[in-house]
Amino acid sequence: TEELMLKSEKLSVLGELAAGVAHEIRNPLTSLKGFTKLLSDADDGIRQEYLRIMESELNRINDIVSELMLVAKPQAVSFEYTNIKDLIYSVVRLLETQAIIKNIQIWVNIQDKIPPVYGVENQLKQLFINLLKNAIESMDAEGEIHIKIENRNHSIVIMIMDQGCGIPPERLKTLGEPFYTTKEKGTGLGLMVCFKIIEEHGGEIRFSSVEGQGTKVEIEVPTIPVQGV
Ligand code: ADP
Ligand code: MG
Repeated sequence: TEELMLKSEKLSVLGELAAGVAHEIRNPLTSLKGFTKLLSDADDGIRQEYLRIMESELNRINDIVSELMLVAKPQAVSFEYTNIKDLIYSVVRLLETQAIIKNIQIWVNIQDKIPPVYGVENQLKQLFINLLKNAIESMDAEGEIHIKIENRNHSIVIMIMDQGCGIPPERLKTLGEPFYTTKEKGTGLGLMVCFKIIEEHGGEIRFSSVEGQGTKVEIEVPTIPVQGV
């Protein structure tokens, strides 16, 4: 019976996710369908405007599908010893221009002798891209983001601290649920992907936040192979 229950639980999670995906994709599709009709009668000026909206709706569908593909099975993944220091620097370089445009400074503080993490490099990179992106997007005025890496017993801890809008306490508990977003162009899938990646690495993710002051995300990942992966 235990197995049965697990299976039905899985099915209901799948059902919820499928319902969410269907809903999120149907909205832009409905709008695209409407604009396709309008387009034929529109004159040149308004047509440009319609095309701009249609492009942004298509981008939205594209974003949702790309993020879902990251959690979709099966992907050939290989666990290997990964240098987190290099990985963090490459993620910072990737998102630096986004930060500079908003006058945000990113500080990186890495302890000496950080051991490699046993993990899937691409997934870990995606994890930090999603988290750093959220940190940057949470800040609408200039400020600082601090990234710290510390060595613990058999694990390392990566902290990402921003000075952004913060997360209300009742939302902290439900982070990782699909399609929760407070952003106009958000998908609400980034954190779901992060939780999934962390789980696959036998790690933990912890959020603490003060509204109006900022958010701290702490990721702990083992530096020795996890049993069973
Ligand atoms: P998205 O970024 O597309 O909205 P995410 O799953 O990455 O989706 O994040 C979900 C929501 O969690 C965000 O819309 C935001 O409200 C909140 N959030 C996540 N990270 C932060 C952060 N560092 N600061 C403030 N809010 C955050
Ligand atoms: Mg995000």
